[in-house]
Amino acid sequence: MLNKRKSTVLLEHHLKQLRLPTILKEYPLLAKSCSHEKCDYPTYLLRLCEKELADRQRRAMDRRIKQAKFGSLKTIDSFDFTAQKSVNEPLIRELLRCEFIDNNENVLLIGNSGTGKTHIATAFGFAACCEGYKVRFFGCTALVTQLLEAREDRQLQRLLKQLEKQDLLILDELGYVPFSKVGSELLFEVVSRAYERQSLIITTNLPFESWTEVCGSERLTGAMLDRLTHRVHIIEANGQSYRLKQSRKRLGRQKIKRQD
Ligand code: ADP
Ligand code: MG
Repeated sequence: MLNKRKSTVLLEHHLKQLRLPTILKEYPLLAKSCSHEKCDYPTYLLRLCEKELADRQRRAMDRRIKQAKFGSLKTIDSFDFTAQKSVNEPLIRELLRCEFIDNNENVLLIGNSGTGKTHIATAFGFAACCEGYKVRFFGCTALVTQLLEAREDRQLQRLLKQLEKQDLLILDELGYVPFSKVGSELLFEVVSRAYERQSLIITTNLPFESWTEVCGSERLTGAMLDRLTHRVHIIEANGQSYRLKQSRKRLGRQKIKRQD
């Protein structure tokens, strides 16, 4: 009895040292059910390993989603394609398979406000996290601010290296706020380093011909677009604003209620 307790204590100690928390938690119960089913030892061990592996993969996925820092977590399941007929659903479904990341291709989502660009970009990022890719989501303005601050603190190279470690960078909402000259140059640096090495997803309300308005110099904008669009999938979202449609519906319902 004493011997048995000693082996249990040692086993649990070793499992902790080996960082196998799921096996540690599950082994007694699984031992009982396997003995009930008359499983052999390798089957018992296999089931324990499968549980540990599944938990480990789930934890890693949760960690990747957390590290991506999505503004608000959206998946494609909550996207209503019937409400946004302007987008190319087959292309979106294909991109959700994430092959574009292996091929270092980019995705541009272009269209007016409220048409689900950020939602779709986040859904791509979420799918990529599930597939094991490292993803980082930024609002464009926030990224440029961060780059400018890092430059002032002599931390720019460090930040750029961190960005380079990602498989996919999502730059959301280019075009709402124009960048300073240095800001545009820093954004160009990110795009330029990512070229043929990482994938970028950019959402914007601006057609290409207006990008100079936010990026300043025509030369720099041209060079940036050249890199971005070399291997790119373009999704246009030009329907009505989903937000506007929802609030119109709500207002309509309130009106009807008042008339009752
Ligand atoms: P955009 O980035 O194009 O301005 P968002 O993606 O921010 O638009 O969408 C605005 C809001 O409407 C979000 O809460 C988003 O989840 C929702 N939304 C937009 N389009 C759809 C859609 N087709 N189905 C479901 N929700 C949508
Ligand atoms: Mg948006």
